[in-house]
Amino acid sequence: MERSQLTGKIQTVLGLIDPECLGVTLPHEHLVSDGSCWYVEPGEASVKAMVHQPVSLDNLWWIRYHLFQNMDDLMFLDEQEAIDEAMRFKLAGGDSIVEMSNIGLGRDPAALARISRATGLNIIMGSGYYLDVSHGPEMDARSQQEITDEIVRDITEGVGSTGIRAGLIGEIGCSWPMTDNERKSLLASARAQQLTGAHLNVHPGQGEDAAMEIVQLLDKAGADLSRTTIDHIDRAVREPANRIKLAQTGCYLEYDLFGREGYYPIHHRVIDLPNDAQRINEIIELIDRGFLSQILISQDIWNKIQRCTYGGWGYAHIMRNTLPVMRAKGMTEEQIHSIMVENPRRVFTFV
Ligand SMILES: [Zn+2]
Repeated sequence: MERSQLTGKIQTVLGLIDPECLGVTLPHEHLVSDGSCWYVEPGEASVKAMVHQPVSLDNLWWIRYHLFQNMDDLMFLDEQEAIDEAMRFKLAGGDSIVEMSNIGLGRDPAALARISRATGLNIIMGSGYYLDVSHGPEMDARSQQEITDEIVRDITEGVGSTGIRAGLIGEIGCSWPMTDNERKSLLASARAQQLTGAHLNVHPGQGEDAAMEIVQLLDKAGADLSRTTIDHIDRAVREPANRIKLAQTGCYLEYDLFGREGYYPIHHRVIDLPNDAQRINEIIELIDRGFLSQILISQDIWNKIQRCTYGGWGYAHIMRNTLPVMRAKGMTEEQIHSIMVENPRRVFTFV
Protein backbone atom coordinates (compact mmCIF):
# COMPACT_ATOMS: atom_id res chain seq x y z
CA MET A 1 0.00 0.00 0.00
CA GLU A 2 1.52 3.32 -1.10
CA ARG A 3 0.93 6.50 0.86
CA SER A 4 -0.88 7.98 -2.14
CA GLN A 5 -3.48 5.21 -1.88
CA LEU A 6 -4.10 6.04 1.79
CA THR A 7 -4.38 9.81 1.35
CA GLY A 8 -7.99 10.98 1.59
CA LYS A 9 -9.20 7.59 2.83
CA ILE A 10 -9.91 5.94 6.17
CA GLN A 11 -8.36 2.54 6.80
CA THR A 12 -10.48 -0.04 8.66
CA VAL A 13 -9.60 -3.64 9.48
CA LEU A 14 -11.57 -4.67 6.38
CA GLY A 15 -9.84 -2.17 4.07
CA LEU A 16 -10.06 1.41 2.88
CA ILE A 17 -13.36 3.33 3.03
CA ASP A 18 -14.47 6.77 1.95
CA PRO A 19 -14.55 9.23 4.85
CA GLU A 20 -18.28 9.84 4.23
CA CYS A 21 -18.92 6.22 5.29
CA LEU A 22 -17.46 6.60 8.78
CA GLY A 23 -20.60 8.07 10.35
CA VAL A 24 -21.21 8.15 14.11
CA THR A 25 -17.89 7.19 15.69
CA LEU A 26 -16.47 6.25 19.07
CA PRO A 27 -12.81 7.31 18.68
CA HIS A 28 -11.33 5.45 21.67
CA GLU A 29 -12.56 2.00 22.73
CA HIS A 30 -11.29 -1.54 23.30
CA LEU A 31 -13.10 -4.68 22.12
CA VAL A 32 -10.58 -7.48 22.58
CA SER A 33 -7.68 -6.62 24.84
CA ASP A 34 -5.43 -7.75 27.65
CA GLY A 35 -5.00 -5.07 30.32
CA SER A 36 -2.97 -7.26 32.67
CA CYS A 37 -0.02 -4.85 32.46
CA TRP A 38 -1.96 -2.74 34.99
CA TYR A 39 -2.22 -5.60 37.43
CA VAL A 40 -0.20 -5.60 40.66
CA GLU A 41 -0.32 -8.72 42.86
CA PRO A 42 -1.35 -7.76 46.42
CA GLY A 43 0.33 -9.15 49.51
CA GLU A 44 -2.67 -9.66 51.78
CA ALA A 45 -4.42 -13.04 51.59
CA SER A 46 -7.98 -11.67 51.71
CA VAL A 47 -7.21 -9.17 48.95
CA LYS A 48 -5.67 -11.95 46.86
CA ALA A 49 -9.03 -13.70 47.15
CA MET A 50 -10.80 -10.66 45.66
CA VAL A 51 -8.36 -9.97 42.84
CA HIS A 52 -8.49 -13.53 41.49
CA GLN A 53 -12.29 -13.94 41.46
CA PRO A 54 -14.16 -13.72 38.17
CA VAL A 55 -16.26 -10.57 37.91
CA SER A 56 -19.76 -11.22 39.26
CA LEU A 57 -22.69 -9.44 40.85
CA ASP A 58 -21.34 -10.66 44.15
CA ASN A 59 -18.03 -8.75 43.91
CA LEU A 60 -19.01 -5.76 41.76
CA TRP A 61 -19.17 -3.62 44.93
CA TRP A 62 -15.47 -4.30 45.53
CA ILE A 63 -14.19 -4.03 41.95
CA ARG A 64 -15.98 -0.72 41.37
CA TYR A 65 -13.89 0.82 44.16
CA HIS A 66 -10.69 -1.13 43.43
CA LEU A 67 -10.33 -0.33 39.76
CA PHE A 68 -7.69 -2.14 37.71
CA GLN A 69 -7.06 -4.54 40.61
CA ASN A 70 -9.20 -7.55 39.64
CA MET A 71 -7.45 -9.67 37.01
CA ASP A 72 -10.61 -10.92 35.27
CA ASP A 73 -11.90 -7.34 35.03
CA LEU A 74 -8.82 -6.38 32.96
CA MET A 75 -9.30 -9.13 30.37
CA PHE A 76 -11.42 -8.76 27.23
CA LEU A 77 -10.81 -12.21 25.77
CA ASP A 78 -14.33 -13.26 24.76
CA GLU A 79 -14.95 -12.39 21.12
CA GLN A 80 -18.68 -13.21 21.19
CA GLU A 81 -19.12 -10.94 24.20
CA ALA A 82 -17.34 -8.17 22.28
CA ILE A 83 -19.75 -8.67 19.37
CA ASP A 84 -22.83 -8.63 21.62
CA GLU A 85 -21.64 -5.53 23.45
CA ALA A 86 -20.61 -3.66 20.28
CA MET A 87 -24.02 -4.45 18.73
CA ARG A 88 -25.62 -2.31 21.44
CA PHE A 89 -23.77 0.70 19.99
CA LYS A 90 -24.79 -0.28 16.46
CA LEU A 91 -28.46 -0.65 17.47
CA ALA A 92 -28.32 2.77 19.16
CA GLY A 93 -27.29 4.32 15.81
CA GLY A 94 -23.52 3.93 15.84
CA ASP A 95 -21.42 3.24 12.75
CA SER A 96 -17.73 3.01 13.68
CA ILE A 97 -15.46 2.08 16.59
CA VAL A 98 -11.77 2.92 16.88
CA GLU A 99 -10.06 0.04 18.70
CA MET A 100 -7.02 1.40 20.51
CA SER A 101 -5.49 -1.87 21.73
CA ASN A 102 -1.97 -1.74 20.31
CA ILE A 103 1.28 -3.53 21.19
CA GLY A 104 1.16 -4.25 24.92
CA LEU A 105 -2.62 -4.52 25.07
CA GLY A 106 -3.05 -7.84 23.26
CA ARG A 107 -3.82 -6.39 19.83
CA ASP A 108 -5.73 -8.96 17.74
CA PRO A 109 -6.23 -7.95 14.09
CA ALA A 110 -8.02 -11.14 13.00
CA ALA A 111 -10.51 -10.92 15.87
CA LEU A 112 -11.24 -7.28 15.01
CA ALA A 113 -11.91 -8.25 11.39
CA ARG A 114 -14.35 -10.95 12.53
CA ILE A 115 -16.09 -8.55 14.93
CA SER A 116 -16.40 -6.01 12.13
CA ARG A 117 -17.96 -8.61 9.79
CA ALA A 118 -20.31 -9.90 12.50
CA THR A 119 -21.54 -6.46 13.58
CA GLY A 120 -21.34 -4.49 10.34
CA LEU A 121 -19.46 -1.78 12.25
CA ASN A 122 -16.37 -0.12 10.77
CA ILE A 123 -13.45 -0.89 13.08
CA ILE A 124 -10.18 1.05 12.94
CA MET A 125 -7.15 -0.59 14.57
CA GLY A 126 -4.27 1.12 16.40
CA SER A 127 -0.49 0.68 16.12
CA GLY A 128 2.64 1.50 18.09
CA TYR A 129 3.44 0.88 21.74
CA TYR A 130 1.38 1.24 24.91
CA LEU A 131 2.78 2.09 28.38
CA ASP A 132 6.28 1.13 29.57
CA VAL A 133 4.82 -1.47 31.97
CA SER A 134 3.62 -3.40 28.92
CA HIS A 135 6.90 -3.24 26.96
CA GLY A 136 8.75 -6.53 26.66
CA PRO A 137 12.39 -6.90 27.80
CA GLU A 138 13.54 -6.42 24.19
CA MET A 139 12.31 -2.78 24.17
CA ASP A 140 15.61 -1.43 25.59
CA ALA A 141 17.52 -2.70 22.56
CA ARG A 142 14.94 -1.62 19.97
CA SER A 143 15.97 1.57 18.15
CA GLN A 144 13.70 4.50 17.42
CA GLN A 145 14.10 3.79 13.71
CA GLU A 146 13.01 0.17 14.20
CA ILE A 147 9.87 1.28 16.01
CA THR A 148 9.06 3.76 13.25
CA ASP A 149 9.56 1.04 10.63
CA GLU A 150 7.28 -1.32 12.55
CA ILE A 151 4.47 1.25 12.75
CA VAL A 152 4.80 2.15 9.06
CA ARG A 153 4.67 -1.55 8.15
CA ASP A 154 1.53 -2.09 10.29
CA ILE A 155 -0.17 0.76 8.41
CA THR A 156 1.05 0.04 4.88
CA GLU A 157 1.43 -3.77 4.81
CA GLY A 158 -0.43 -5.09 7.83
CA VAL A 159 0.29 -6.61 11.22
CA GLY A 160 2.52 -9.70 11.01
CA SER A 161 1.27 -11.93 8.22
CA THR A 162 -2.44 -11.05 8.69
CA GLY A 163 -2.58 -8.46 5.92
CA ILE A 164 -4.82 -6.45 8.27
CA ARG A 165 -3.64 -2.85 8.39
CA ALA A 166 -3.75 -0.29 11.21
CA GLY A 167 -5.68 2.95 10.63
CA LEU A 168 -3.94 5.17 13.16
CA ILE A 169 -0.92 5.44 15.47
CA GLY A 170 -2.01 4.96 19.07
CA GLU A 171 -2.77 4.85 21.80
CA ILE A 172 0.91 5.63 22.42
CA GLY A 173 1.53 5.11 26.13
CA CYS A 174 3.30 7.72 28.27
CA SER A 175 3.69 7.47 32.06
CA TRP A 176 4.42 10.33 34.45
CA PRO A 177 7.27 10.89 34.54
CA MET A 178 7.87 9.60 31.02
CA THR A 179 10.37 6.73 30.77
CA ASP A 180 13.23 6.67 28.25
CA ASN A 181 11.57 3.91 26.25
CA GLU A 182 8.28 5.82 26.17
CA ARG A 183 10.09 8.90 24.85
CA LYS A 184 11.69 6.72 22.16
CA SER A 185 8.30 5.21 21.28
CA LEU A 186 6.66 8.65 21.14
CA LEU A 187 9.34 10.15 18.87
CA ALA A 188 9.24 7.06 16.65
CA SER A 189 5.46 7.52 16.40
CA ALA A 190 5.88 11.17 15.43
CA ARG A 191 8.19 10.10 12.60
CA ALA A 192 5.70 7.44 11.48
CA GLN A 193 3.01 10.15 11.43
CA GLN A 194 5.17 12.18 9.02
CA LEU A 195 5.79 9.16 6.80
CA THR A 196 2.21 7.85 6.59
CA GLY A 197 -0.17 10.78 7.17
CA ALA A 198 -1.91 8.77 9.88
CA HIS A 199 -3.40 10.38 12.98
CA LEU A 200 -1.35 10.18 16.20
CA ASN A 201 -3.12 9.44 19.50
CA VAL A 202 -1.28 9.71 22.83
CA HIS A 203 -2.19 8.51 26.33
CA PRO A 204 -0.66 11.03 28.80
CA GLY A 205 0.68 10.06 32.23
CA GLN A 206 -1.00 10.89 35.50
CA GLY A 207 0.34 14.40 36.07
CA GLU A 208 -1.26 17.74 35.21
CA ASP A 209 1.76 18.73 33.11
CA ALA A 210 2.04 15.42 31.23
CA ALA A 211 -0.14 16.46 28.27
CA MET A 212 1.75 19.70 27.61
CA GLU A 213 5.12 17.97 27.96
CA ILE A 214 4.06 15.47 25.27
CA VAL A 215 2.79 18.17 22.93
CA GLN A 216 5.99 20.22 23.28
CA LEU A 217 8.14 17.14 22.68
CA LEU A 218 6.10 16.26 19.58
CA ASP A 219 6.23 19.82 18.31
CA LYS A 220 10.04 19.90 18.63
CA ALA A 221 10.21 16.58 16.77
CA GLY A 222 8.27 18.04 13.86
CA ALA A 223 4.98 16.25 14.49
CA ASP A 224 1.76 17.72 13.09
CA LEU A 225 -0.16 18.78 16.21
CA SER A 226 -3.30 19.34 14.14
CA ARG A 227 -3.09 15.58 13.44
CA THR A 228 -2.57 14.63 17.11
CA THR A 229 -4.99 13.75 19.92
CA ILE A 230 -4.33 13.86 23.65
CA ASP A 231 -6.45 11.24 25.45
CA HIS A 232 -8.13 11.17 28.83
CA ILE A 233 -8.52 14.95 29.22
CA ASP A 234 -11.15 14.14 31.87
CA ARG A 235 -8.44 12.86 34.21
CA ALA A 236 -5.25 14.32 32.76
CA VAL A 237 -5.86 18.06 32.36
CA ARG A 238 -7.98 19.35 35.22
CA GLU A 239 -7.06 23.05 35.27
CA PRO A 240 -9.32 25.00 32.89
CA ALA A 241 -6.44 27.30 31.87
CA ASN A 242 -4.32 24.28 30.98
CA ARG A 243 -7.06 22.92 28.71
CA ILE A 244 -7.18 26.22 26.86
CA LYS A 245 -3.38 26.27 26.49
CA LEU A 246 -3.46 22.72 25.19
CA ALA A 247 -6.24 23.49 22.71
CA GLN A 248 -4.29 26.53 21.48
CA THR A 249 -1.53 24.18 20.28
CA GLY A 250 -4.02 22.84 17.73
CA CYS A 251 -4.24 19.28 19.02
CA TYR A 252 -7.47 17.38 19.66
CA LEU A 253 -8.74 17.07 23.22
CA GLU A 254 -10.37 13.71 23.86
CA TYR A 255 -12.86 13.28 26.70
CA ASP A 256 -12.91 9.51 26.56
CA LEU A 257 -13.90 8.42 30.05
CA PHE A 258 -17.64 9.07 29.68
CA GLY A 259 -19.48 6.81 32.11
CA ARG A 260 -16.72 6.80 34.74
CA GLU A 261 -17.69 9.16 37.52
CA GLY A 262 -16.18 10.10 40.86
CA TYR A 263 -12.62 9.02 41.44
CA TYR A 264 -10.30 6.10 41.35
CA PRO A 265 -7.52 5.15 43.70
CA ILE A 266 -4.41 3.95 41.95
CA HIS A 267 -0.94 3.17 43.29
CA HIS A 268 -1.76 4.88 46.63
CA ARG A 269 -2.97 8.05 44.87
CA VAL A 270 -6.48 9.23 44.13
CA ILE A 271 -7.44 10.46 40.67
CA ASP A 272 -10.49 12.77 40.76
CA LEU A 273 -12.88 12.37 37.85
CA PRO A 274 -15.66 14.68 36.71
CA ASN A 275 -19.12 13.19 36.21
CA ASP A 276 -20.69 13.20 32.76
CA ALA A 277 -22.63 16.43 33.39
CA GLN A 278 -19.39 18.17 34.41
CA ARG A 279 -17.61 16.75 31.34
CA ILE A 280 -20.31 18.29 29.17
CA ASN A 281 -19.96 21.64 31.00
CA GLU A 282 -16.22 21.60 30.24
CA ILE A 283 -16.90 20.75 26.60
CA ILE A 284 -19.36 23.65 26.35
CA GLU A 285 -16.67 25.96 27.78
CA LEU A 286 -14.24 24.77 25.10
CA ILE A 287 -16.86 25.29 22.40
CA ASP A 288 -17.51 28.81 23.70
CA ARG A 289 -13.76 29.49 23.34
CA GLY A 290 -13.85 28.35 19.71
CA PHE A 291 -12.48 24.81 19.99
CA LEU A 292 -15.48 22.76 18.80
CA SER A 293 -13.53 21.25 15.89
CA GLN A 294 -10.89 19.84 18.29
CA ILE A 295 -13.16 17.85 20.63
CA LEU A 296 -13.59 14.08 20.62
CA ILE A 297 -15.64 11.98 23.05
CA SER A 298 -15.60 8.26 23.84
CA GLN A 299 -15.90 5.76 26.70
CA ASP A 300 -12.54 3.90 26.68
CA ILE A 301 -14.23 0.64 27.65
CA TRP A 302 -11.48 -1.78 28.65
CA ASN A 303 -12.75 -3.21 31.95
CA LYS A 304 -15.53 -5.77 32.20
CA ILE A 305 -17.44 -3.72 34.78
CA GLN A 306 -17.96 -1.06 32.09
CA ARG A 307 -19.88 -3.54 29.93
CA CYS A 308 -23.65 -4.09 30.17
CA THR A 309 -23.08 -7.83 30.73
CA TYR A 310 -21.52 -6.94 34.08
CA GLY A 311 -23.86 -4.14 35.11
CA GLY A 312 -21.95 -1.37 33.36
CA TRP A 313 -23.01 1.37 30.93
CA GLY A 314 -21.67 -0.21 27.74
CA TYR A 315 -20.65 1.05 24.30
CA ALA A 316 -24.04 2.72 23.70
CA HIS A 317 -23.72 4.96 26.77
CA ILE A 318 -22.87 8.15 24.88
CA MET A 319 -25.66 7.55 22.36
CA ARG A 320 -28.26 6.66 24.97
CA ASN A 321 -27.33 8.81 27.93
CA THR A 322 -24.84 11.52 27.02
CA LEU A 323 -26.34 13.08 23.89
CA PRO A 324 -29.71 13.75 25.62
CA VAL A 325 -27.87 15.57 28.43
CA MET A 326 -25.91 17.58 25.87
CA ARG A 327 -29.18 18.64 24.25
CA ALA A 328 -30.75 19.45 27.62
CA LYS A 329 -27.75 21.64 28.42
CA GLY A 330 -28.28 23.61 25.23
CA MET A 331 -25.85 22.06 22.80
CA THR A 332 -27.10 22.21 19.22
CA GLU A 333 -27.52 19.31 16.78
CA GLU A 334 -24.78 20.87 14.65
CA GLN A 335 -22.35 20.84 17.59
CA ILE A 336 -23.21 17.22 18.43
CA HIS A 337 -22.79 16.25 14.78
CA SER A 338 -19.36 17.88 14.74
CA ILE A 339 -18.24 15.89 17.77
CA MET A 340 -19.77 12.53 16.80
CA VAL A 341 -19.25 12.58 13.02
CA GLU A 342 -17.23 15.43 11.49
CA ASN A 343 -14.31 15.57 13.93
CA PRO A 344 -13.67 11.78 13.87
CA ARG A 345 -13.97 11.81 10.06
CA ARG A 346 -11.29 14.54 9.82
CA VAL A 347 -9.10 12.78 12.43
CA PHE A 348 -9.05 9.33 10.83
CA THR A 349 -8.73 10.42 7.21
CA PHE A 350 -5.11 10.01 6.06
CA VAL A 351 -3.46 13.20 4.79
ZN1 LIG B 1 -7.71 3.20 25.90
